[in-house]
Amino acid sequence: MAQDQLGLFDKSPDQRETRFSLAVVALLIVALLVILPVRGIRLHEVQAFIPMIDGIMFVGELITATLLYAQAIVFRSRALIVLATGFVFAALLLIPHMLTFPGAFAPDGLLGAGVNTTAWIYTIRRAALPIAILAYVHFKQADASSHPGVERPSVRIMVWVWAAIAVAAAVTLIATRWHDLLPPFFVNHAERNQNYAAAYHFIVFAIYAAAAVALLRKRSSVLDLWLLVALAGWLVQALLNVVIDARFTVGWYGLFALMLFSNLIVMLALIAETSWLYSRLALSTAAQRREREARLVSMDTVTAAISHEVGQPLTAVALHASAGLNSLNKPRPDVEMAIRSFRAISESGQRTFDVIKSIRAMFAKGPNLQTEFDLNQLVRETASLMDRELAAKKITLELSLDEALAPINADRVQIQRVLVNLFANAIEALEPKRGRNRRIAIRSAQLNGHDLLLEVSDSGVGIAAESSERIFDPFFTTKATGTGLGLPLCRTIAEEHGGRLWASPSPDQGATFHLQLPIRRRHPHGPGTNVS
Ligand code: ADP
Repeated sequence: MAQDQLGLFDKSPDQRETRFSLAVVALLIVALLVILPVRGIRLHEVQAFIPMIDGIMFVGELITATLLYAQAIVFRSRALIVLATGFVFAALLLIPHMLTFPGAFAPDGLLGAGVNTTAWIYTIRRAALPIAILAYVHFKQADASSHPGVERPSVRIMVWVWAAIAVAAAVTLIATRWHDLLPPFFVNHAERNQNYAAAYHFIVFAIYAAAAVALLRKRSSVLDLWLLVALAGWLVQALLNVVIDARFTVGWYGLFALMLFSNLIVMLALIAETSWLYSRLALSTAAQRREREARLVSMDTVTAAISHEVGQPLTAVALHASAGLNSLNKPRPDVEMAIRSFRAISESGQRTFDVIKSIRAMFAKGPNLQTEFDLNQLVRETASLMDRELAAKKITLELSLDEALAPINADRVQIQRVLVNLFANAIEALEPKRGRNRRIAIRSAQLNGHDLLLEVSDSGVGIAAESSERIFDPFFTTKATGTGLGLPLCRTIAEEHGGRLWASPSPDQGATFHLQLPIRRRHPHGPGTNVS
């Protein structure tokens, strides 16, 4: 269920992360092998080295702790709180370490430091992180088997942070005031006391090994993987520490450099993982928003298409109804005229019904109704539906139909919708034109053995140059009450039939729409594709 895993605390590592972490471990081993042969070489005593390294690690470990606490609040995890507190404690110990380091701020260190103060502080610091990891593994299992506590995680975090501060203060006090009670690590500021070295190294190795084994056994998340990398880094340093006899040697400087590297790698991995997860989340939120908007747009398209297509025959119904009523309301009712109006109403009603059926068919997946019919006949039928309107607006209709046209195999209702749209647009384009030349010409022709061509020309306002590229775009309209859906729907229907629809300027100023249709329906996406 990788998609449901949102935090690095519960996200399993992928191949890329595993490979990258192995590469980091390999790099640490190479660094150890390079340092080992030259470890004893004494280098210049750079007094600023320790404050500098401690400063960087202090900031790094506090950042790591903050990231872990943030995850702990989200997941209500005691395991993460304990681990983060381990980093806080380790970071806090860097302060007395830096202050008491001989030569950093005072020749013998501040806070009344003895020869062994820094060594003891550092030893406890070294042990703190693997012990925190052991506690983390323990609490992780406990968290998994218990319900999240009612206590607020932020309160729990405050308690743990104060505990870390108190223990760090106690360690500092012991390592400075009661310094002489502790076993000595150093004979003087540079040389080690070898008597305690073996016991010390054994304890450090034992803690690291225990933490590594516990993590390896229970490892499940990206965070566990990077903690293992950090442990590998600390183990490499522990190995180096066994063979270092003095401060300010290549080995000693190398030890701190490796320490810095392995501590920062956890922080960098946490930041990288967190921002990676964040950007994934942001991307998926954006995708969800786009999907929602697309759904809204398509809903909009459908409703606009329905009102556009159904609106036209309904307007005709209303017009014919009032014409019928007028003819019957006269002092001498014109029954003949009324009958014609009611027939027109019935035809328009039927057309509304067909249009609805056709819209449903258009949005439904699957084949539409295919029949064989005479395109010229359909043109005449459609023109007769319009003839009242044409007469009322004093528009001349010129038909030059090729009588040798082969019968066409297509969806009759959809092709009629195209014709109605083209006629309606032509009539509207003639609206602003006054005078005698108000003309619509329809021409049909057989193009070749496979295709027919139908042209609807008008002497209207024509298509403005700046609009010509856009008239087939959905929602593009220059009319106050237009929807901008007629032409895109017409083009979709033409293309669905394997044909084309395009526009050009008419010789007499207006516009011509060209509808090319195959006699037998071709699939729009080329030959060889199944039509049904
Ligand atoms: P609508 O008619 O709802 O505006 P259409 O998709 O049918 O939407 O047409 C889009 C635009 O194309 C119209 O607003 C108009 O500017 C232009 N157009 C369509 N047919 C013609 C025509 N015969 N003459 C001039 N312009 C036209």
